[in-house]
Amino acid sequence: MSAQIIDGRAVSKTILDEIRSDVATMRDKTGTVPGLVTILVGENPASVSYVTLKVRTALDLGFNEVQENVDPGISEADLLALVERYNRDESIHGILVQLPLPDHIDEKKVIYAIDPDKDVDGFHPVNVGRLMIGGDEVLFPPCTPAGIQELIVRSGVEIEGAEVVVVGRSNIVGKPIANMLLQKGPGANATVTVVHTRTRDLASHCRRADILIVAAGVPGLVKPEWIKPGACVIDVGVNRVGEKVSRKTGKKIAILRGDVDFDAAKEIAGSITPVPGGVGPMTIAMLMKNTLASCRRS
Ligand code: NAD
Repeated sequence: MSAQIIDGRAVSKTILDEIRSDVATMRDKTGTVPGLVTILVGENPASVSYVTLKVRTALDLGFNEVQENVDPGISEADLLALVERYNRDESIHGILVQLPLPDHIDEKKVIYAIDPDKDVDGFHPVNVGRLMIGGDEVLFPPCTPAGIQELIVRSGVEIEGAEVVVVGRSNIVGKPIANMLLQKGPGANATVTVVHTRTRDLASHCRRADILIVAAGVPGLVKPEWIKPGACVIDVGVNRVGEKVSRKTGKKIAILRGDVDFDAAKEIAGSITPVPGGVGPMTIAMLMKNTLASCRRS
């Protein structure tokens, strides 16, 4: 039987509708709305398209959205000063610096300069530490892992006691999602294994997984025979494997593939996310959720 397709677009729309309604209530009651600044350095096409989508979503929700598109030649000192300006701006509750930054700027320095109370991406070491502790300590769960957790919970898959295998150990996906799912609490309490490029037998680990989360960035890495029948498969990978002309706009668009062989995997899995339309839309929804939460706390 074919798997349930976990529709990230539909789930993210529900979450965004909830946020829009909360923002309207907040505005009517207090006159305040969440403020988000998006800082984009240069014109990297992928970064431009991510930032455009974030800006459009924030505006649609009724946020105070400030767009800072700065020249790629900006000095590190000037960029740090810009971040500091928004650290002090009380109308701004979330600061997002789109990565990657040009080579002459130390990304770490810029992330560390963001006020941890406005770090809606959750990348500042203070927030990484808080995530590790878990529970009430967590201010900003990082957006992609938070989106993954929300998708699993909302699709009705039991996480408590489940064998979760995470493929990939990056700081933005693999490590944080592993950490979040092993915490004590609702939507967690799983037994988590993290596998990576030095793992001896990737397939045998994946085959044990009740929930398999794949964030490797290798198109089609996970073969259908690595999937336990009935498992929940979350494919985080977004790999550009070519280009095609859009029927709607006539413009060239990227052909995207995930890390899992979707067509074959959906005949074995119990539930599975597509690429595109799975985890991707959730990341933006979680960014907006973090900004609203930050505004409430302030
Ligand atoms: P990364 O390159 O930082 O990390 C990839 C991880 O996968 C590494 O830890 C590596 O050890 C592991 N890995 C790579 N090849 C492997 C292999 N053959 N076998 C076992 N492990 C392997 O990548 P990332 O930033 O974590 O992103 C992973 C993928 O997820 C990418 O395709 C990226 O585009 C996508 N992504 C999507 C979203 C989203 O919102 N949908 C967000 C972040 C990342």
